[in-house]
Amino acid sequence: MAYVIPAPAQATLPVVGSDDEFPVHRIYCVGRNYADHAREMGHDPDREEPFFFMKSPDNLMPCGGDFPYPSKSNDVHHEMELVVALKSGGDNISEDAALDCIFGYAAGLDMTRRDLQGEMKKAGRPWEIGKSFEYSAPCSAINPASGIGHPASGRLWLEVNGETRQDGDLNQLIWNVAESISYLSSLFTLAPGDLIYTGTPAGVGPVVKGDKLHGTIEGIGEIEITVV
Ligand code: MN
Repeated sequence: MAYVIPAPAQATLPVVGSDDEFPVHRIYCVGRNYADHAREMGHDPDREEPFFFMKSPDNLMPCGGDFPYPSKSNDVHHEMELVVALKSGGDNISEDAALDCIFGYAAGLDMTRRDLQGEMKKAGRPWEIGKSFEYSAPCSAINPASGIGHPASGRLWLEVNGETRQDGDLNQLIWNVAESISYLSSLFTLAPGDLIYTGTPAGVGPVVKGDKLHGTIEGIGEIEITVV
């Protein structure tokens, strides 16, 4: 069997402490998962049902680097996030079994064309053009859970040109990692290779060309991009 066109390249992320790569299947993202960020976006931080959107695996920017300012936007925002990488999946996974599906964790940025997202929200249209564009998913190497366990707390923060813009703790997640996996698996069949961007703490804001972003999650990883 041959393909009638060249087969698309498999998106991958490096793995801390290994020469082997992690193959990426889908990229799920959780919306409004920190109360202070929900508030800054003008929403009630009460624990309503989680909601999700997706990015395309080829939106990944492994280990950061130069982030080209995307087209059609004048308001591109940073969102610093914990990323979960799955080694197994399924449907209707219980919260008790959810952590067993995790291969490891990474530090990611959910880059967002906020102006386009806002227009789509207002029109009741899908968020794709605000969220799923080229280079919109910078992500660090994956740190295997076999080495670091399943951190339920830990500081995550983002500096822009050396100034701290976002600062939170994983213990502030409205829907924790096990709950997010369980809920997602009631909507989609989760699979090995899936990534989940788990949401961002408060302090999101615009970037401009020349900005250097440096995000860190204590005990998990770091991600750096330069806006070009
Ligand atoms: Mn986000």
